Amino acid sequence: MITTKDNDTKEPWYGDGLSFSCTQCGNCCTGPSGYVWFDEDEARAMADYLKIDIAEFYSRYTAKALGRRTLGEVRRDKKHYDCVFLVETGAGKRVCGVYPVRPTQCRTWPFWPSNLKSRRAWEAAAVSCPGMRDPEARGSGFVPIEEVRVRLEENPDHL
Ligand code: SF4
Repeated sequence: MITTKDNDTKEPWYGDGLSFSCTQCGNCCTGPSGYVWFDEDEARAMADYLKIDIAEFYSRYTAKALGRRTLGEVRRDKKHYDCVFLVETGAGKRVCGVYPVRPTQCRTWPFWPSNLKSRRAWEAAAVSCPGMRDPEARGSGFVPIEEVRVRLEENPDHL
């Protein structure tokens, strides 16, 4: 069971909402080898967005893992595997090549059960996600608890 509370308090630790504003650093789309799960509707949406048929989408952009299909990845160096759709745009920006139709797993970052289980977990994730750090100083990105809950409930069982 997912725990969203700190200690014995009734309210989740993020009861006052959270702040998040993506800086397009691309860190969440690279790192150790991992999985990006998607369902059939999401696969079709990505294929349509790329203007290719579904068979080509599966063969070019996905891989088998744990009895399922995951988005493919490209080895960048010894430590980093980039999502197959990560695109460098210059000036330190790296963006998603299928952003409007990205899978739920990506769309709901960083509001994942693993990050919301405690403030400590959230802060640990924020080490590599600047969008989760000091957002008030940048004056944007407030996410009220109602919205956090919506995104949390959207999460697939990807962890
Ligand atoms: S790591 Fe955070 S700030 Fe960077 S691209 Fe991902 S969501 Fe945006």
